Amino acid sequence: MYTMGIDIGSVATKCVILRDGQETVAGCCIPKGTGTSGTQQTLERIYRESGLQRSDISYLIATGYGRTRFEDADDNVSELTCHTRGVSFFVPDVRTIIDIGGQDAKAIQVGENGRMLNFVMNDKCAAGTGRFLEVMSSALETTVDQLGELSARSTIKLNISATCTVFAESEVISLMSSGFEITDIIAGIHTSVARRVGGLAKRVGIEPRIVMTGGVAQNSGIVRAMEEELKMPVSVIPQAQLTGAYGAARIAWERATG
Ligand code: ADP
Repeated sequence: MYTMGIDIGSVATKCVILRDGQETVAGCCIPKGTGTSGTQQTLERIYRESGLQRSDISYLIATGYGRTRFEDADDNVSELTCHTRGVSFFVPDVRTIIDIGGQDAKAIQVGENGRMLNFVMNDKCAAGTGRFLEVMSSALETTVDQLGELSARSTIKLNISATCTVFAESEVISLMSSGFEITDIIAGIHTSVARRVGGLAKRVGIEPRIVMTGGVAQNSGIVRAMEEELKMPVSVIPQAQLTGAYGAARIAWERATG
């Protein structure tokens, strides 16, 4: 039996097909979010890669910011629930999830049964989200996928004091014009994001094991900065950006079989 989860996010659309709730048949991500052609492109790609079509999918769950606007799903489920289920699928002993997406950041407390107990969220301000890192990358003439590697070469700790994205961008430009190394500036940016998101995690109550999800978890510099901020190890699963889609596909399987 095949089930599908589609996570229609603010900046990217992610999709996963599972066989019998366990085996990954296909998974893909298109960097286009809700309100764009991202949904259509993601579906075309996953059906092409899997050789399946909609009629082969027993149950389809949509999640993410754009989930209610997708009419081809059997149901939709909140991204908090789907991220929690997705992480628990890979890391059963997870107790804290830190999810940084394109436009928000969330900290989720998970119970021993793998269910969400509590969460804290920032969706009011770009600082501490993927958008902040995108704005900084563009000011530094690099891309988000380079940030982890570049920050690993940093030798001094720079402090980015502005919390607002616009002011932080001015601060970064001023550091660049003063001749500071881009590697050190990026490490400073990561520390500033970790401080902000770490604050959310502390409010929800941090307990090991901590797992980071969302597209930004692919940035190893953020993961390192978060470990320094929380003074605890932080795990990342290889499918970090697909976690919500995995959770949705798992819930779809439970619905189809339950
Ligand atoms: P949403 O669900 O809100 O659409 P995602 O969880 O898909 O967000 O994360 C999107 C964010 O992930 C983007 O802001 C982007 O900057 C970041 N991102 C995507 N790919 C990478 C990568 N390879 N390395 C670092 N960051 C990435």
